[in-house]
Amino acid sequence: PTRARHSLRAEELSMIFGGVRAVSGLSFDAQPGRVTSLIGPNGAGKSTVLNMLSGFYTPTLGRCVLQDRALQGQGAWRAARSGVARSYQTSQLFGSLSVLDNVALALPRGRLGALLGRRAVSSPAARERALSLLRWCGYQGDTGIKAAGLAHVDRRLVEIARALATDPEVLLLDEPAAGLSREDKLQLGALLRRIADAGIGVLLVEHDMALVMDVSDHIVVLDAGQLLARGTPAEIQQNADVRRAYLGE
Ligand code: ADP
Ligand code: MG
Repeated sequence: PTRARHSLRAEELSMIFGGVRAVSGLSFDAQPGRVTSLIGPNGAGKSTVLNMLSGFYTPTLGRCVLQDRALQGQGAWRAARSGVARSYQTSQLFGSLSVLDNVALALPRGRLGALLGRRAVSSPAARERALSLLRWCGYQGDTGIKAAGLAHVDRRLVEIARALATDPEVLLLDEPAAGLSREDKLQLGALLRRIADAGIGVLLVEHDMALVMDVSDHIVVLDAGQLLARGTPAEIQQNADVRRAYLGE
């Protein structure tokens, strides 16, 4: 990890889908070295916010800013180059490539690598770096197997290693704990903390409240596309609006 890191800021973000307001005037930031969680009921607009922050959607109003540069309308690939990496709800690994190559090919490759494009085989240096990233993320398995054959938790770890290979300023995760066992969730939570402690901003969308309360420095609560509350885990757990609207009290 080398680059200087900055907050990723959502500034007055709104997204309207065919007359339906999915997100309304939402502002918050994900700071370097911190885990920021975005929570809220189904349909609250969480994935839409991640899609705007990672360049998949252009906001109807407002903008996404990283180090005073607007990311708006750049597209996902440029967002990744600008320092915003993302892991997905459904796996985006190349199933027929090895675990090692999935990570090695995501590393910045300089001008020659760019010329050779995606078909390039990874260099020995890239393979070494990929291996150390995989181990750092807690992947203990065989790095030579095809990604298609990975067990669920290993798939998550490899996806995160691949996202980290781009040397991001901010890592966005959409429900990474879905389908994981309690034990696997603890391992994932520890990894997210380690990533933040390495100076990267982590923006987590997650349903598992135990995990969110455990790993977050800051929580942003969305309800029907609008900011309902924000604060530390302790503040959010005590917030009367949140308890009423979200925790069902
Ligand atoms: P969450 O991730 O919090 O469950 P979403 O961001 O997926 O919520 O959805 C927020 C609202 O926006 C929902 O009402 C959903 O139906 C709507 N929505 C999301 N994506 C689209 C889309 N591509 N086209 C139309 N409506 C969408
Ligand atoms: Mg979602």
